[in-house]
Amino acid sequence: MTTVNAYAATEANGQLKPFQYQLDGLGGEEVAIKVHYCGMCHSDLSMLKNEWGMTQYPFVPGHEIVGEIIELGNGVKNLNIGDLVGLGWFSASCMFCDQCMDGSHHLCNTAEQTIVGRHGGFADYVRCHWSWATLLPKGIDLSKAGPLLCGGITVFNPIVLSGVKPTDKVGVIGIGGLGHMALKFLRNWGCEVVAFSSNPDKKEQILSMGAHQVINSRDPKELEQIAGSLNFILNTTNVTLDWNSYLTTLAPKGKLHSVGAVLEPMAIPAFSLIGGEKSVGGSPLGSPALTRTMLEFCVRHDIYPTVEEFPMEQVNEAVKHMEEGKARFRIVLKV
Ligand code: NAP
Ligand code: ZN
Repeated sequence: MTTVNAYAATEANGQLKPFQYQLDGLGGEEVAIKVHYCGMCHSDLSMLKNEWGMTQYPFVPGHEIVGEIIELGNGVKNLNIGDLVGLGWFSASCMFCDQCMDGSHHLCNTAEQTIVGRHGGFADYVRCHWSWATLLPKGIDLSKAGPLLCGGITVFNPIVLSGVKPTDKVGVIGIGGLGHMALKFLRNWGCEVVAFSSNPDKKEQILSMGAHQVINSRDPKELEQIAGSLNFILNTTNVTLDWNSYLTTLAPKGKLHSVGAVLEPMAIPAFSLIGGEKSVGGSPLGSPALTRTMLEFCVRHDIYPTVEEFPMEQVNEAVKHMEEGKARFRIVLKV
């Protein structure tokens, strides 16, 4: 038996309180991770509030985990005790469906999710299937790497998936945790980057992170000024915006891609797509192999999230800071 020291809420939107739970012996294909840091994603907040109707209490958030392998199941071949690894939203996949066999484990229909029906990384210890414990490249800054394992790969995947070219002009909506990482990736990709933000106080920081231009995300008049110019737009907000105005900013063949879990149905007029062969899409995280590629890209170009660190004991202050929109730009909890 292993005793895990975690932080859990016992009801929707409840305070996170110290919570101990027991785990039986490690499965043959599982690894055990001693958690060093865990990022705080907006999805942790949405789960805490049960906004998606699938939270089970007691609920332990945390799916942007970095730490050290301390135990290996007897069937694990790719990792060793002491390895530094990262764990994101997915903690296991079946390893035999067409998607897993094709390398798209993140599209596995029965993939296990780190904080759904099991306990996450706001804790000193977490387990996962070996396939989702991503070995961290040498030289990576551990204190900032956590957010790459969910937010980072979530915005990196669509750049690859959509075939964004270095010569493209692109937009990112919402410069929060995911959005600021998207901005840094796209700038290093070579693109001209327009940031859409609702918060004028962030403008200077957004420009210093590499945006060429900042536009008010809630002002259709400002959007009109760049009509027909963007090849690709990545939405990272979960709110309802004037989607038709965004479709108007796309160039012919452009794509509006949402990774933000927009809570209401998105109004997309068919004629705004038809004329210019435009498209709308979405995606979850990315594959384990692409996660490794992204981490190498980050080390090569020195790309890290801009983080604010809180000790794990101050998790409720950290949640409040994020809820109030004060986080600049990703919160990381240190165990
Ligand atoms: P976050 O740090 O809270 O950032 C969200 C940003 O959205 C804010 O910083 C803000 O940017 C903008 N925003 C918030 N309220 C707004 C409003 N009323 N009007 C206009 N803009 C607003 O959240 P995050 O961690 O980046 O997560 C973003 C979304 O992605 C969440 O829905 C999360 O659940 C989802 N997510 C999805 C996946 C996936 O697999 N697809 C993975 C991870 C997260 P500005 O201040 O710049 O306006
Ligand atoms: Zn997340």
